[in-house]
Amino acid sequence: MSYRSSLEARIARKTTKAIVDFALIEDGDRVMVGLSGGKDSWALLQVLDVLRQRAPITFSLVAVNVDSGYDGYRHDLIKATCEAHGWEYRIEHTQIGAVMDDLLEPNATPCSLCARLRRGVLYRLAEQVAATKIALGHHADDFVETALLNLFFGGSLKAMPARLVSDSQQHVVIRPLVYVSEDEARAYTKESCLPIIGCCCPACGDLSLQRQRIKRLIAELEREHPGVKSSMLRALGNVMPRHLLDTRLNPRPSFCEQ
Ligand code: SF4
Repeated sequence: MSYRSSLEARIARKTTKAIVDFALIEDGDRVMVGLSGGKDSWALLQVLDVLRQRAPITFSLVAVNVDSGYDGYRHDLIKATCEAHGWEYRIEHTQIGAVMDDLLEPNATPCSLCARLRRGVLYRLAEQVAATKIALGHHADDFVETALLNLFFGGSLKAMPARLVSDSQQHVVIRPLVYVSEDEARAYTKESCLPIIGCCCPACGDLSLQRQRIKRLIAELEREHPGVKSSMLRALGNVMPRHLLDTRLNPRPSFCEQ
């Protein structure tokens, strides 16, 4: 089976590299793909399906969509598209939107609470569909933006793991698009004629001011110095603990104790 385009070949190569670098998918895995209907989750599902048909290992896919219950959400399009492609899918209707209205303080940013609630639903569904991995559509831009957000506003040096075992040890969350840029994911979803579906939440598209600023900053830097973004991504895999100030990584020498 050949790739349909040079873009698909590039995204498949980057995704394969991530799978190998971080041992994201193993023989016999059943991978549950979190499918919001946004561009990133479609790109992830599409490329994993392409790789599944070419890979020397056997794994299966099931797309899971968590409907937060907002009016106008086009879960019918998720259903129709998955069926047209022969993708196994499941749509879970929830009241996350209403729950958030009850729990959120006025003027609070909803996305982190929303992500926590959705993560809980995904973990429950992973057990129901017997998934061994939960794949999320975060891409390279998400990784570098998160790193800068934590650096500038969180006082910590951290991004996101490409592979995360949950605290309960029961779930493995993977991010196979770590090397794929947001522009590539967007173009791939468009090229694959997959319908980009808005979540219909009142905050949709209204990224926090801090994230918007970071996005703008990276875009400006990238215009002035092409390659800045990929340098930042490489930096996340090239940490030099001895050149940092964390005393947990660099314990004081024993003679200091005397
Ligand atoms: S934009 Fe809406 S649906 Fe998306 S994470 Fe934020 S609160 Fe949740």
